Amino acid sequence: MKNRLLALLLALTALLLSACGGEDDPSRTVYAMDTVMNLTVYGEGGETVLSEAESLLHELESTLSRRVEDSAVAALNRDGSVDHALVADLLAEAVRVAAATDGAFYPALAQVIDLWGFGTDALRVPSQEELSPLLEALEESAFSIAGDTVTLIGEADLDLGGIAKGCAGDLLCKLAREKGVESAVFDLGGDVAVLGTKPDGSAWRIAVKDPADAAQYLGVLTLTDAFVTTSGIYERYFEENGVRYHHILDPNTGKSAESGLVSVTVVCESGVWADALSTACFVLGANEARSLREDLADTLAFELILVTEDGRVLYTEGLADTFAPAEEGNYTYEVIS
Ligand code: AMP
Ligand code: MG
Repeated sequence: MKNRLLALLLALTALLLSACGGEDDPSRTVYAMDTVMNLTVYGEGGETVLSEAESLLHELESTLSRRVEDSAVAALNRDGSVDHALVADLLAEAVRVAAATDGAFYPALAQVIDLWGFGTDALRVPSQEELSPLLEALEESAFSIAGDTVTLIGEADLDLGGIAKGCAGDLLCKLAREKGVESAVFDLGGDVAVLGTKPDGSAWRIAVKDPADAAQYLGVLTLTDAFVTTSGIYERYFEENGVRYHHILDPNTGKSAESGLVSVTVVCESGVWADALSTACFVLGANEARSLREDLADTLAFELILVTEDGRVLYTEGLADTFAPAEEGNYTYEVIS
């Protein structure tokens, strides 16, 4: 047992080193968007990129977080309309995801999230009487986007929590590329963007967390140029009378999604889509997530790792060579189409 634990610890250390770089690598820890982020940028100009990346993350937080008092999204929710190019672009993308997922991803859940208290210390289970009017408001909500002007139609407020980190990942990679960087890894609190290869030319190794124990992992992805995002029940939750309530909400019920899944990892070239799709596929469940992947195949390729509540790890065939299941653990693994 001791030896097994030691081997696991060593394996984990090696993994962290390979994902975050070594001690002397140019890296920085940033706290933004409610998350501890680790950025590592290799090559000439790495330090400059890190400084600009840090500023960019703070700027994104003060634009996209509805809880930052004078953010563009807070202004939109308060005034019903705002002029902001990034918010307009990101919302347009969010609306595309909402349409593609039949509303499983829906970027206007702010009041429903607040009713549960997610993101605050005041967590509680709301009554159906409280939820129903908010669900009606959701039904009637819409967005108008004209140039850089975004207008909310109806009572529901915008919440970009399910897509903002993906947007950050895309913008960090864009920034690094523009500065001539060919090798970087941006770990945005578990959602990871990797640029190019490691400096030695090998692929990055990214651990996928075990939703039952986030200090353990289910397997390792070996990738170059990709975004990996995970939506899981372990991220934000509380328990009451033995029931776990987590932060991924089904827009149809206003309650924690119960789709038979406990975690969804998406691998995709686009950070925004990876982030939004992990949330959406969690709500949809395994079968609908697989159909969605088929439906989108011609427009946007993405791969999935789905963990079911009965202990199965289903991963799509595109990951057959890149995902290595953990050697120990309680899961069974299956390649799916
Ligand atoms: P993620 O961890 O990326 O799945 O994002 C979860 C966050 O997205 C939550 O904390 C909410 O802010 C928001 N959210 C929850 N459920 C949904 C949903 N069905 N569609 C869009 N955003 C959601
Ligand atoms: Mg997401």
